[in-house]
Amino acid sequence: MSSSTINSTTPVLISGAGPTGLFAAILLTKLNIPVRLIERHLEVSPLSKALVLHARTMEIMAMSGVIERFLVEGKHLREFHIWQGGKQAAIFPVLNNKESHYNFGLFLEQLRTTALLTAELNDLGVQIDRGWELMDTKVVEEGKKSWVETTIRRAIQGTNVRSTESKVLGVVEQDAEEAGKQYETEVVRSEYLIATDGGKSVVRHKLNIAFPGRTLDNNIIIYDGHVESDIPFDCITVVNGDNGKMMVAFPLNDGQTRIIVDNGTLTPEEHMALKPEDLTLEMFTGMVQAIIGPTIKAGSFWREMPPMCTLQQVVKVKQQQQQQQQQQQQQQHKASKE
Ligand SMILES: Cc1cc2nc3c(=O)[nH]c(=O)nc-3n(C[C@H](O)[C@H](O)[C@H](O)COP(=O)(O)OP(=O)(O)OC[C@H]3O[C@@H](n4cnc5c(N)ncnc54)[C@H](O)[C@@H]3O)c2cc1C
Repeated sequence: MSSSTINSTTPVLISGAGPTGLFAAILLTKLNIPVRLIERHLEVSPLSKALVLHARTMEIMAMSGVIERFLVEGKHLREFHIWQGGKQAAIFPVLNNKESHYNFGLFLEQLRTTALLTAELNDLGVQIDRGWELMDTKVVEEGKKSWVETTIRRAIQGTNVRSTESKVLGVVEQDAEEAGKQYETEVVRSEYLIATDGGKSVVRHKLNIAFPGRTLDNNIIIYDGHVESDIPFDCITVVNGDNGKMMVAFPLNDGQTRIIVDNGTLTPEEHMALKPEDLTLEMFTGMVQAIIGPTIKAGSFWREMPPMCTLQQVVKVKQQQQQQQQQQQQQQHKASKE
């Protein structure tokens, strides 16, 4: 049940503190435009989706004066290694846009990108307003004046995030309140709303804005963890398996490797039937070995195994460790500021 509603104003409300929302907040703050950045999660997601920053992204970040920390922390990668089964077949230059000063791919997990952008924003004196979820928004017009009115809410205890949510264009079934939870609600009046609330944007659905394009029905499995292999996975490595399947390995920044295995095309029904517990370490190891032959030693993967993972469901991997690492880094950053 909602316990209270308050009203507030801000020149710019930004909804969603992923990389896009954070970067928008940094730019506007540097232009002395006050922002309020809300994020429904209480913590940064431990799921590292993106791994690489491309040349144009780095150029824009450089123009905005926020590239240094990224260049120091990320890996500069320029090569793509192709293997056919257990044998190296070719090496290609990759991501080396010669017209750019940044003629490499900068490898940095999204978790770190988000942490570094958050640190940049904090240095400018702005904190993310966590726990607030955008529920609804509309443009109000009165005579010659107009503004945006956005309803946000936050659970007084615990998190806002519900386990089930379904969104159909124009209809967002997010209003259900969880039994026993108390929410505070706020109506924010702003000149602008920047909707950086991700691919499933509530704002897009509420305003009935279509998302043209098509959905790929490829099923992939992602593993982030330790791998022991005779193939050196120290650069982007594509392995074309003798069984006709493909896998790609990316070095991560902490000595671990991301492995993406092509699991073929699934029907929507097959996709829906997938359960995290269906994927075991043994099964994944078997899939990799079937692609690259005996090169990877049996039992060479370790760490808790991510559940079945598709592009739609990047799942919990090394969650605790990443959270601890991030807390340590935040503490170190705070200590260095004091
Ligand atoms: C497996 C995978 C690999 C990828 N690899 C790459 C890559 O190598 N390079 C690359 O450039 N991109 C890559 N991407 C894409 C990249 O991850 C996205 O483009 C990026 O996350 C988009 O950032 P964003 O800030 O727009 O949205 P998001 O990262 O989705 O952030 C949206 C934020 O809004 C918050 N939010 C959502 N709804 C609400 C609400 N109602 N109220 C308040 N807050 C809300 C969410 O909690 C979230 O924090 C990859 C994606 C996947 C899945």
